Amino acid sequence: MAKLKGRNKEIENDDSLDVLYKIDDGMMVVDDYEGVESDTTLRDGANIHNFDDLVDIEDNDVVDRVDDLDDVDDDDEPPKNSVPYQPTSPRAILKKVIIVLIVLALFYGAYYLMLQLNKPQSVGKISVPEAGIDYAIVDWQDIEDANAYDIYIDDELYRRVDDSKIELTGLTPERQYQVAVVSVRIEDGKDDVFSGKSIGTVLTQSLALTIENFQVNATKPPEEVGIILSWTPVPDATSYVIETSADYSGEFTTLATMNTSDFVANAAGDFEYRDADVDTGALKAYKIRALYEADGSTPIEGNFSNILAAISRSATGVFAYDYGYVDISTIVDPAELLADVNRHKVLERSYTPEDLVEVDGMQLRKVAADAFTQLQDAAKDNNLNLVIVSAYRDYDAQSDIFLSELSKDPVNAYRSAAFPGFSEHQLGLALDVNVNKEASVVFADTPEYRWLQENAHKYGFVFSFTEANKDETHTTPEPWHIRYVGNDVSTKMYEDNIATLEDYKGE
Ligand SMILES: [Zn+2]
Repeated sequence: MAKLKGRNKEIENDDSLDVLYKIDDGMMVVDDYEGVESDTTLRDGANIHNFDDLVDIEDNDVVDRVDDLDDVDDDDEPPKNSVPYQPTSPRAILKKVIIVLIVLALFYGAYYLMLQLNKPQSVGKISVPEAGIDYAIVDWQDIEDANAYDIYIDDELYRRVDDSKIELTGLTPERQYQVAVVSVRIEDGKDDVFSGKSIGTVLTQSLALTIENFQVNATKPPEEVGIILSWTPVPDATSYVIETSADYSGEFTTLATMNTSDFVANAAGDFEYRDADVDTGALKAYKIRALYEADGSTPIEGNFSNILAAISRSATGVFAYDYGYVDISTIVDPAELLADVNRHKVLERSYTPEDLVEVDGMQLRKVAADAFTQLQDAAKDNNLNLVIVSAYRDYDAQSDIFLSELSKDPVNAYRSAAFPGFSEHQLGLALDVNVNKEASVVFADTPEYRWLQENAHKYGFVFSFTEANKDETHTTPEPWHIRYVGNDVSTKMYEDNIATLEDYKGE
């Protein structure tokens, strides 16, 4: 009797087996075999397999199975799916190992899935609690699993931070930026960029670059001759550019460019600039703009202020004059019949009408001259005498008149004479009338004026400066000053009591 020794039990074998196998921890070796000392050939899997069959041959189930196999060709019922008794075999061990591996794999899969589910997809909403002209503070929900955040501005990586907020600097004012935040986990020096990113919008503030309270003021004797420009400091300005022109319509040239730090606020809290280069009797106009310039970036220019003008009065002082909000862009097209010049609109210094004709010893544009001749004839028919005291005047002649008024009444000169460039007389469409060339009477007291009030419109003329529009025009009423606009317009303005040509045009 030989013995088969398995890992778990020993199996008796009968004498019919010439080979004795020992199963030692799943490895079979030859324990005894007549005439054969080596077990080499029996160590491979095939022989082990055979050994199983050999072991099982005693088992009745196996015999049955063999019987069934014999009957395979018969029409008997199919063989029972019987499981034979098996000792712990290498195959079974293999099966167990595989099962364990599968269970482990399932556990790991579940764990991995849990990690993935816990991992945040994004940082959620991006908030912008504060934004200035060149910076913005951005924050977002802190992600526990993340230990860093990549910040992108307009799709370009800006910075990596480990906090859940960042201050973006060096931004351009009045610009919108797209800010993206990607949460990152760094482990063992390696990035694990979480899927998904949050996108927000940052809008930087607009710049405050508007000049407020721009004034020109004369120095007063015994101070040195000069014009003092002043304005309220502009919040975001880093510098100022002051430009000047000898007349409104000419080229403005840069008088000074100064940094904000160059100024010291005066007692009123305003910045001041002194222009000492002032000639007696010469008009100077000024405008100023504020600039913002971040380090290394292109300056952003504010709009120019209104233009203020000054005319020097004497060698010892200047008269400064605010001529209202005049911008270089409001130069009037003088070719238009209804061109209106006033405190806001200016003619070029060089403008001279092309169709000036002589009338009553003066010059007017032909259309106005013809109309006046008819008006004068109609007055004559009523035994009234209308003559032209002044008609077309060029820029320089107007400047002389303004300076003359200035010498008489510096404070109110601007109410009685237009600044050069702002006179209807330069248009060649306006004229001053009286009953004689010397203008020796007060025209408003004459019957000619009363007649003119009721008839001027019939010949295409309107009164430019009246009691009704003095607040609008800032000009003392001038009963003697009429301006040609054409019959249709003059009739409409007369009948509807329209105070100014500007009102008629709806400007
Ligand atoms: Zn006039």
